[in-house]
Amino acid sequence: MTTHPHRKVIIIGSGPAGLTAAVYAARASLTPLVIEGEPSSTSDQPGGQLMLTTEVENFPGFPEGVQGPELMQRMRDQAARFGAEFLTEKATNIDFSGHPHRVWVRDDEYTADAIIVSTGARSLMLGLPNETSLIGHGVSTCATCDGFFFRGQEIAVVGGGDSAIEEASFLTKFATKVTIIHRRDKFRASKIMQERAFNNPKITVRWNSQVTQLFGEKKLEAIEVTDTNSGATERVALGGLFVAIGHRPNTDLFAGVLDMEDTGYLVTQPGSTRTNVAGVFACGDVQDHTYRQAITAAGSGCMAAIDAERWLEHQHATTSK
Ligand code: NAP
Repeated sequence: MTTHPHRKVIIIGSGPAGLTAAVYAARASLTPLVIEGEPSSTSDQPGGQLMLTTEVENFPGFPEGVQGPELMQRMRDQAARFGAEFLTEKATNIDFSGHPHRVWVRDDEYTADAIIVSTGARSLMLGLPNETSLIGHGVSTCATCDGFFFRGQEIAVVGGGDSAIEEASFLTKFATKVTIIHRRDKFRASKIMQERAFNNPKITVRWNSQVTQLFGEKKLEAIEVTDTNSGATERVALGGLFVAIGHRPNTDLFAGVLDMEDTGYLVTQPGSTRTNVAGVFACGDVQDHTYRQAITAAGSGCMAAIDAERWLEHQHATTSK
């Protein structure tokens, strides 16, 4: 076991929230260590969910758009320029029961006065073989992000909850036809959302159906839909497929330590990024199931760094009296 030099701030997670927190904490001379995740992982890889996207057109400051991975590399370079340090591994254990707070990466122990948790969330996926490689190439998990790319096309949305209907309704602004593919004969979504879908002439619903194959090498060309009652399959040509079957925050590491909602999202105090544990702050999608945008994650990352800095100052003022 190796113990590393004590830090003022450790940031766990390196999507837009964690990297923005790193830029702010580094510029405040807190020399943060960013435990950025493992490149091999699809759920909590360095850079977060934007590493799985292509063109990002709604991040302010990039009028021509920017590739998701490039945007994350730029944020990382910016944090490094001000002195943030990076560990390209996954945090494997934590102990926030006393001071300092402790974080392990396998057998290596890291300690810090303040921790910023920005481990993000992941979209649930169908689990089809080429699904991940087609993300950004016809397969998407975010209508707000990618809907614009499907102007004038026929597309489908998988799922039967509020997200699926919200995505489908939003996508009718761009697509000529949106088919919701749902595995049962009833939606799980709220009544009002269901009515929205049923009243929209551009939306049709394909009940009792599962997407069982994706066709296309470099770009999605068609899907296979299987009828869950008869087992009959059909190949359907399609420009885009939106997977809207739910999200899961990456919070297993904090179970029993940080307050969470039933759905696993971390609870922060209203108007701040403070968690229930003193000196531990949370930002980005790990505590936000509403907006889930790179820009809102970045904004809350900035808040977390400022909250941590002020908390550290207050601690210093009280202990040096
Ligand atoms: P959700 O409510 O968990 O719904 C997930 C849907 O995906 C379900 O219909 C489920 O089918 C289907 N599904 C799950 N795994 C699947 C698979 N492997 N293959 C095919 N279908 C699969 O998730 P959500 O829609 O993301 O909503 C999450 C929470 O956010 C909910 O509380 C929701 O009310 C809330 N939300 C609210 C709004 C709003 O009010 N504007 C918008 C979005 C989300 P089954 O029904 O058969 O289980």
